[in-house]
Amino acid sequence: MSLTATGWKNKNGTKDRSCNCGSWKQHWINGTDKSWPKQCCVKGCSNDATLGAHIINKNVSGEYIIPACDSCNQLVNEFDLKGGITLVSANKQETCEK
Ligand SMILES: [Zn+2]
Ligand SMILES: [Zn+2]
Repeated sequence: MSLTATGWKNKNGTKDRSCNCGSWKQHWINGTDKSWPKQCCVKGCSNDATLGAHIINKNVSGEYIIPACDSCNQLVNEFDLKGGITLVSANKQETCEK
């Protein structure tokens, strides 16, 4: 899926959400068929990617999951993504629970 890399924000209030995959990290892996990246997908960040973060964009419909680190998962301002990042829909009806 090719989506814009700019202007993303964390979706608040997703901490208690879960899906059939067991974790949002696993949800991303299942959705992409790729191996989990070493680094966080937020541009300018070189921390280890430890979790699947829910992100939204005012120019894109829906919510998406990206590999991110703990601190980027708590960003309140808009951020950009590194190039070539695969975003997986967080909509369970379209992915793991369809
Ligand atoms: Zn899932
Ligand atoms: Zn990060």
